[in-house]
Amino acid sequence: MPERREGIRYLSLEAARAIECNGCGDCCDSRRTEGHWAWAAVPEDLYAGLVGEPLIIPLERIEDGWRERPHEDRDVLELIPTLFHCSALQPQADGRALCGRHTEPRPPVCAEFPVWGPDVERDLEDSGEAHLATGFLARCSWFNVVVVRDDDPRCERE
Ligand code: SF4
Ligand code: SF4
Repeated sequence: MPERREGIRYLSLEAARAIECNGCGDCCDSRRTEGHWAWAAVPEDLYAGLVGEPLIIPLERIEDGWRERPHEDRDVLELIPTLFHCSALQPQADGRALCGRHTEPRPPVCAEFPVWGPDVERDLEDSGEAHLATGFLARCSWFNVVVVRDDDPRCERE
């Protein structure tokens, strides 16, 4: 019997995909989580080839905050996190921040995060559960959600 952990919501893929993004913007700018959230594999052109101008801008910490830095070779690596901000993110008066490229070309991960990517379906098929990459995003609508198969005894029923 799979173990149920306290504080976790176990949802079917359909239920997880029915959740709505609350627009907190924390997955689009490392500064919004004090650097706990980063981008994986930033291309050398910063996606300018895709969107017409640099999109994902590497950042570094300085004494009194943050500053942009040039792209480095290691930034292209999947397993090396790159602190960043996105030039398309539009801060809102209520503290949220919305994507300014929601209906325009943008990096695939933007549309896939956090429950629409092939990795979620693969993990579900391989191991029966998919742990979302929202562990450092406490304000995310999908924080503490684990996707499980429909017949999993832990799966929330309506
Ligand atoms: S393109 Fe939109 S979804 Fe993607 S990182 Fe930028 S603001 Fe976020
Ligand atoms: S962190 Fe989650 S809720 Fe916030 S903007 Fe990103 S996907 Fe939406």
